[in-house]
Amino acid sequence: MVLPDGEERVIRVSGDRIGGPGGECLVEGAWLLPGLVDVHTHPGTNQPGEDFDEDLHRSHMTDHRDAGVLLVRTPGSVDPDPTRERHDPTLPRVRRGGRWLAMPGLFFPDFGRPVTEADLVDAAVEEAEASGGWCKIIGDWRPGDPAVPLDLLTEAIAAVHAIDGRVAVHAQTAEGSRNAVLARADSIEHGMHLDNDLIPTMVEHGTALVPTFTAFAPTIERIRAGEGAPEIREWLLTGWEGLFTTVRTAHEAGVTVLAGTDSKPCGDIAGEVLWLIRAGLPPEAAVAAASWTARHWLGLPGLEEGAPADIVAYDADPRVDPSVLRRPSLIVLGGQVIGRQR
Ligand SMILES: [Zn+2]
Repeated sequence: MVLPDGEERVIRVSGDRIGGPGGECLVEGAWLLPGLVDVHTHPGTNQPGEDFDEDLHRSHMTDHRDAGVLLVRTPGSVDPDPTRERHDPTLPRVRRGGRWLAMPGLFFPDFGRPVTEADLVDAAVEEAEASGGWCKIIGDWRPGDPAVPLDLLTEAIAAVHAIDGRVAVHAQTAEGSRNAVLARADSIEHGMHLDNDLIPTMVEHGTALVPTFTAFAPTIERIRAGEGAPEIREWLLTGWEGLFTTVRTAHEAGVTVLAGTDSKPCGDIAGEVLWLIRAGLPPEAAVAAASWTARHWLGLPGLEEGAPADIVAYDADPRVDPSVLRRPSLIVLGGQVIGRQR
C-alpha cells in the first residue's frame, strides 16, 4: 500500500530513482511512505554554546536516518562555514537554514550569529544566500524581552523573499508570534502564545507552523514537578496548553502544520507525530506532517516515477497505528538499502 494515495502497487527502484526496471524484491505487502522528514533539528551540537562538531553531526544524522528520517531542515546552526557542502549520500538530505540570527539578549549567550537592528536585514539575506534557501531569525525570547520590532522583521523577511529565500522565525511569546505572522514569516517555529485570531492571516500568507512539542515536553514535566521561577512557569504552562488549541485550529483553517523535534537525541519524529495527534490533527495529517506534506513543502516529490528513491516501509498502516513509525521494516535512501528488519 503506497501512501498518501492508499493504492496497492509495485514501487520499482533503479539506481537512485523510483521507476525503471527495478531489481530484487525488497519488501512485500508493506505500507510504503516517502521518507520521513524532521523540519526542525540542529545536528552538530548538543547544548547551546557548544562549537559545531563534525563527528557529532554525523552521529545525529545517523540517528535521524535510522529512524526513517531521510530529509531534515536545520533552522539554525553554529556551523562556522555556512557554505560548506555536506552532502553525504549515506545521510539524510538537508535543507540548511544558516546560522541563528540573534539580536542582543534574544538567545543563548554567544550562540548563533549575533546581529544588531542595523545589520539584521543584510545578515538575513547573507545567511539565506549561503544556505541556498532558508535563514532563521530569533524573533523573541523570554516574556518581557522586547521582540524583534515588526517593521524590522518585515523588512528582513521581504529582503530574503526578494532573493527567493525563505525565513523561519523563532516565536514563543504573544508579541513575537504576532510579529512573525504579520511580517510574513514562511514558518513559525514553536508558536506559543500565538493569538488564534491571526490564524486566517497565516493561511493568507502561506505561513507554516512547526510547534515542536517534543522540545518543550520535558521542560513542562519538570515545571509540573515544581521546578522553575514562578513567572517562567506560568508563561510556559499557559503557552504549552494554548499550543494544542492553536495547532488544531491552524490545521482546521488550512495552515500547513509540520513535524519538527528540535530535540536530542535525534530521531524521535514518531514522538512528534503522536503529539500532533494529541493536539487534534487527524492521524493521516499528522503522519503527512512528518512525511509527504513536509517533503513537498521542502521541494521534494513523493513516491512517484522519477522521484529520488527515499522510501520507508512499515508492517502496519501508520494512519491507523502511528506508533508503527518507530519501527520501520525497511529504509531506502537514494536507492540504497539502509536498514532492514526481519
Ligand atoms: Zn531550534
